[in-house]
Amino acid sequence: MKRKLASIQTVLGIDAIANADAIELARIQGWQCVVKKGEFTVGAAGVFFEIDAVPPDEPRYQFLWRPKDGAPIVQPSSFRLRTLRLRGVLSQGLLLPLVQFPELPVGLPPGSDVTEDLRIGKWEPQLPLNDEVEGPFLSGVPKTDEMRVQSVPEVIAELAGRPYVITVKCDGTSATYGIHRHTGAFTVCGRNWSIKRGNNAYWHAAEKYQLETSLARHHEMIVQAELVGPGIQKNRLGLQGIQLAAFNVYDQKNGRYLAHDEAGAFLGSIGVPMVEVLERGECFAHDQASLLAIAEGFYAGTPNEREGIVIRPLTESVSQVLGGRLSFKAISNRFLLKGGD
Ligand code: ATP
Ligand code: MN
Repeated sequence: MKRKLASIQTVLGIDAIANADAIELARIQGWQCVVKKGEFTVGAAGVFFEIDAVPPDEPRYQFLWRPKDGAPIVQPSSFRLRTLRLRGVLSQGLLLPLVQFPELPVGLPPGSDVTEDLRIGKWEPQLPLNDEVEGPFLSGVPKTDEMRVQSVPEVIAELAGRPYVITVKCDGTSATYGIHRHTGAFTVCGRNWSIKRGNNAYWHAAEKYQLETSLARHHEMIVQAELVGPGIQKNRLGLQGIQLAAFNVYDQKNGRYLAHDEAGAFLGSIGVPMVEVLERGECFAHDQASLLAIAEGFYAGTPNEREGIVIRPLTESVSQVLGGRLSFKAISNRFLLKGGD
């Protein structure tokens, strides 16, 4: 599911902020963000912009980067909507009244994605390592992605009462390994493309775990892992060498992901480590707040804030709201407040 960086949303609640007379807190989906006092009432609709949204340099957004009491300035190239703490409260994203957007059709229902209508860009942490692109992603294999719990709060009810597993979200880059179902060639992919065989971290990891040999014996299995270590993102896990932390095994013959324990058994048999399990249980009873609390912590043995967690049922299931596999993430607010990407 694609992120809606700008969408029509309904205000679910308004909370006062202690010692603040000009601002208050609006609740939208699972998010909370600061708005001008009196601008919204409960049940009103607005345009909600998620964190990481980059609005165009237009007057209606310029207050966001204009210095206090200063003249307007051009939008800084690094500008994005961030996670902030204002008057002691967490504020994520931006909510603006519908009247500021006369170009939008009247009567758009809540949930409508207006990212393209409003020409909203997305901030990306850094350019992917794209110097080694070979061609398209493995055909017939899903790319890796996770939605944030605050944007799809319905997933919590979908998982409620079911056996579940929570893993650490490793901060590296996505890597997919497998035998191409048409060509039979061992293929290595990053987030979006296959990567040329050569002197690069994706292929070093393939060699380290001898994936070409083991996947040739299991040509239906696709291994999807976070590639972590020195030189990748900020190496927040503090590793000495390149490693894989696998989070998916996909059976391309039957078009399904293996269940968590099945995947663990297979990965164990080929010697590929899995992402660390933080918690598992027979009956999922978390709410958003408890998930966000678990999301906060350090990568083991480091002073580095972890990015967050990924939450899934122990056996695969389909999510109505996601329109696909039930699986989602909770990003640590402590990580975001420290400027983490
Ligand atoms: P966003 O959609 O929030 O803008 P994004 O699309 O870059 O960001 P990520 O924040 O990178 O998505 O989150 C999804 C990625 O997390 C997956 O593609 C995968 O590479 C990585 N990942 C790391 N650890 C895990 C884990 N334990 N389980 C699943 N995915 C994980
Ligand atoms: Mn994504």
